[in-house]
Parts: sequence; C-alpha cells; structure tokens
Amino acid sequence: MSERGGKKNMCNAMTVDVEAWFQTVLFERNQRAHVGNLVQNVTEIMLILDEFGVKATFFVSGVVAERAPEIVAQISSRGHEIASHGYRHALVYKMSPQEFADDVGRSMDILKGITGVRVMGYRAPTWSIFRNMDWAISALKGLGLKYDSSIYPVSRNIFKCPALPTAPYLITDGLVEFPPPVFKCLGYNMPFAGGTFLRFFPEELISRKFLEINALGQPALAYFHSWEFDDILPEAGMSYWKRWVQYGNVRSVRVKLRAMLNKFKFTSMRAVLQEARLIVA
Ligand SMILES: [Zn+2]
Repeated sequence: MSERGGKKNMCNAMTVDVEAWFQTVLFERNQRAHVGNLVQNVTEIMLILDEFGVKATFFVSGVVAERAPEIVAQISSRGHEIASHGYRHALVYKMSPQEFADDVGRSMDILKGITGVRVMGYRAPTWSIFRNMDWAISALKGLGLKYDSSIYPVSRNIFKCPALPTAPYLITDGLVEFPPPVFKCLGYNMPFAGGTFLRFFPEELISRKFLEINALGQPALAYFHSWEFDDILPEAGMSYWKRWVQYGNVRSVRVKLRAMLNKFKFTSMRAVLQEARLIVA
C-alpha cells in the first residue's frame, strides 16, 4: 500500500461525536448533570489532531454544550467545525417530526450562541435516520442545514441494503447526505470506520478499505466518540454484552486515530463537501 499515494489523492472527513458516555443508546440517561471527563477527552483528541495539522468536524450534543460551553468555544476557536448531534441524543425514529425539529433546532441555537457560527451539518444519534424517513430529511432542510451524516448504508437490523449510495450525494434539493463508508462482505454492507467496528477491525484492514474508496475518487469519513478517549470507563458492573458494545477494545482508538491521520489526508466535513462542490460556504 502506498501511504503517500493515499495522502495525496483524496481528502477524507474526520469526525468526532461529542457526547457523554451516559447519553449513548445503552444508557440514555440525559438527566445526569456532570459530563465526567468529556472536556479532557475532547482536549486530547484536539491535541492528536494538532500533531497532524488536521481540522475535523465535531458533532456536539446540545445537552453537553449547555453543560460544558467552554470546550465547544475552544473547538471552534481552534479552527474545527462545530456541527449538531441533536439536543438530547435521542433516537430520531422514536421522535415525532415536531419533536425532532425542535430537538435539532434547539441544539443549533445553543451551538451558534456559543460560537457565533451558523451550524451547517447534523448527525443523528446512533445513525437513527433511515432512508425512508423523508420527514426527517425535510426537517433538516427546513432548519437550514446544508448536510446530514446520519444514514448508514445498511438496513435496520442486518447489514444488507445495497441500493443506498455509499458516497456523498444530494438526498434532497439543497441537502447533502454524507454516509459512513462500508465494504462488501459476503453480500452484506459491513461498517468499519467508527464505533465498535473500528475498535475491533485491525487498523490495516481499515486503511486498506479507505485506500480502495479513495481510489474510486470518493472521500470517506471516519468517526470517533469523545468517551472512547476516557481512561475511566464508567458502569463497570453492567452486563457483559453492553460492556462489549460500549467499551470493547476501546484502548485501540488512540493508535488507530494516529495511524489513519498518518496515512491519509483528513479535514472537516464542511471542507470535504465544499471541495467536492456539493455545498457552498
Ligand atoms: Zn452519539
């Protein structure tokens, strides 16, 4: 594999979901007041990005932004993009259209109030928008967003949904969808660029798949979570299955992030989509 070739050829999107560990789908406890080590975790991620001179997109939960506004201001002032990860980190398919629009709009107002910059992008908690949820896409467009990154090109329960695009595409007039990458495995679309999948797949495989996508002339995105950089893993007493999904191989993320930043060119979602002329500033 030519690492330099990968770096030269294509700019990919580096993204971080900024949320407290207790907001994830396994816990859904937004009522907790303290965000734990989130500020330190995000600071560490920014320091790693600095080592490689990379700007990223941080999808921030509104609940977190209210409780730790100083880190949101810092992310923005250091040149990264702030985008919305919703307010409550609630699953979109469990909300009514009005609840969804209110949730995202509230987060956008909070984020803009902190940074002074209009939010252009959104990512649904736990990739909880599916392709048939046109009402959610309409709501995002109605809020003035320019891109969404919420639809995994897999079906809801099994990883088989080959009809969905795997590269950025115009999902409706004025709104671009930037899906996470997948690779074909026995006819299924297999995620690999974030979460449990990234933590368990070897770095060499992840890099090879990035290289293959870039060779097609397509950018890919990678995603990390702020709590994956926390040395203290809360809820040690939870079930084995939950612990595996939430924290399995979590110690590998620092090594994998650095390896990917070393091998590939990354920037923010906004910059990748502007470069591809899919959105304008
Ligand atoms: Zn999330």
